Amino acid sequence: MNTVIDLIGNTPLIKLRKASEITECNIYGKAEFLNPGLSVKDRAALWIIKDALKKNNLEKGGTIVEGTAGNTGIGITMIANYFGINTIIVINNNQSQEKKDALKNLGAKLIEVDPVPYANPNNYVKYSKKIAEEMSKTSNKKICWANQFDNIINAQAHIDTTSVEIYNQLDGNIDAFTCSSGTGGTIAGVGIGLKEKKKNIKIVLSDPDGSSLYNYIKNGKLESSGSSITEGIGASRISKNFGIAPIDDAFQVNDIDALNVTFDLLKEEGLCLGSSSGINVAGAINLAKKMGKGKNIVTILCDVGTRYTSKLYNVEFLKSKGLPYPDWL
Ligand code: PMP
Repeated sequence: MNTVIDLIGNTPLIKLRKASEITECNIYGKAEFLNPGLSVKDRAALWIIKDALKKNNLEKGGTIVEGTAGNTGIGITMIANYFGINTIIVINNNQSQEKKDALKNLGAKLIEVDPVPYANPNNYVKYSKKIAEEMSKTSNKKICWANQFDNIINAQAHIDTTSVEIYNQLDGNIDAFTCSSGTGGTIAGVGIGLKEKKKNIKIVLSDPDGSSLYNYIKNGKLESSGSSITEGIGASRISKNFGIAPIDDAFQVNDIDALNVTFDLLKEEGLCLGSSSGINVAGAINLAKKMGKGKNIVTILCDVGTRYTSKLYNVEFLKSKGLPYPDWL
């Protein structure tokens, strides 16, 4: 008998028609928005919780605490519910209302904080750690901080599952993989897993404006410029997960290009996705153009567009940011 846990992973690989046609390559998207929590982060959430249970750091009736842009929290809450574990989520208050609503609906205790840089002790990630430490002092049940950025069981989920699925779905006929990085778990795990199977596969970062990771890959400096409306991706520091990613090259993708691709994916392929998928597919198109015709390139379709209705499909919001908006809205 299947449970919600069994619905995680084994997602289809979709050939993206327009991206493939314009580049004369085969560009594929891994349909991670079909996971039960509707994002790629279900995989990391499951590995983190299973690992914590195995190591006796978490138990039924205990609590898992995490700082998240939303999707990891949604995956964690869904899985924690299944195991009879409570969830406390710390989220920056500028993240989409739809993700916050999903977390509340699932039963997470949601703590919204002002977005501040990582160096600030009130940063959402550090604050979530502090909550877990404080609770551990008094609770008679296990309290666990998920620590998705620096807990490399996150990348292990993608070594064990995502990379194996992608390789098998293409019978090994893959030349390159690209995606953006939030924690770095996806690019690290898929990168490590694919390179173990085929050494010369290229692993390429697609990074939004406002993130320091592009410059870090290109010239070793954590420098950023500009900003992005994308959520859950981009970083100003090297997390432990990103630190183990075997990255060969990087592209910077601006919001205008990412949104045009996101709206194309909806109108021409019928895929309603979030903007990090737009960054990823735009990055895959850049990579295909750089590598030349006939290559097989894979990227990640991270989450569903309906998680961003109030932003990505809100003409007033997009106009206020000087961004393109779909002509059907
Ligand atoms: N896209 C979205 C929408 C996300 O929420 C995240 C994770 N925060 C990512 C991409 C990046 O995934 P990872 O953390 O594995 O780098």
